[in-house]
Amino acid sequence: MRLANLDGRATIVANDGLVDVAGASNGAFSASIDKCLGQLDKLDAWYRSAQPSLTQNVAIEEFALDPRLGPVVNPRQIFAIGLNYRNHAAETGAEVPKQPMVFTKFPSSICGPNESLPIPGASTDYEAELVVIIGATLREVSVDDAIAGVAGYCVGQDYSEREWQYRGSPPQFSLAKSFKNFGPIGPWLTTAQEIPNPNELSIVTRVNGETMQDSNTSDMVFPVAELIAYLSSVCELRRGDLIFTGTPEGVGRARTPPLYLKPGDEIVTSIEHLGTIRNVAVAP
Ligand code: ZN
Repeated sequence: MRLANLDGRATIVANDGLVDVAGASNGAFSASIDKCLGQLDKLDAWYRSAQPSLTQNVAIEEFALDPRLGPVVNPRQIFAIGLNYRNHAAETGAEVPKQPMVFTKFPSSICGPNESLPIPGASTDYEAELVVIIGATLREVSVDDAIAGVAGYCVGQDYSEREWQYRGSPPQFSLAKSFKNFGPIGPWLTTAQEIPNPNELSIVTRVNGETMQDSNTSDMVFPVAELIAYLSSVCELRRGDLIFTGTPEGVGRARTPPLYLKPGDEIVTSIEHLGTIRNVAVAP
């Protein structure tokens, strides 16, 4: 099942149209997507058995670009992982980490999948990322049990202002990655059951139509289940929390010369089975 936030209302995305969850279920399920997160199995079962008629007919590719799409969740905690793809670690000249390198993005940086990207400086960079949406309370979960605590997955960008990221010593990531709209997510949540292995998905960033990142989540140093187990050994993970799982090679900073985003650029990010998000850079 795919679940979108359309104008603040939980909406099931079928192949050929949309179902407004609260309306079609006569209020049995909430219009709040955050509340639906706790009932995804029930909602999925209802959708399969009731087979509600479409609220609106629209092709899925067209709907993905709808400007009314909001962020799929409103997270309390956002974890992000640095240098989690082997080929990205290599392009930065860093060693492959021996344990996950964790930082945060602040929740106010999260936005809908197709919102514009205000460019705050001269070194704004793109980072395509698989985003994990936590579906349960998890503390000290094992690697084997970790995926059972995932609600679903979506596409994300971990936009980063590199000058801010590296201006101090030691570098700090969290503010540099938390400017307005630096965390677009979507276009919708795809439930975990639909994605048997989150570590075999192609992941691509195109800037103005040119492919800049083209990899596969199989290149992750620490796969999704290991990240969840590691984080939950310290922090309690809660329903709706997000994990930005790292970016593959091809970021602008690692190019010669570096390629940074400027107003007018169009950034299109796709992950196999999860969809596509689109941001246009604008002057702040
Ligand atoms: Zn990142």
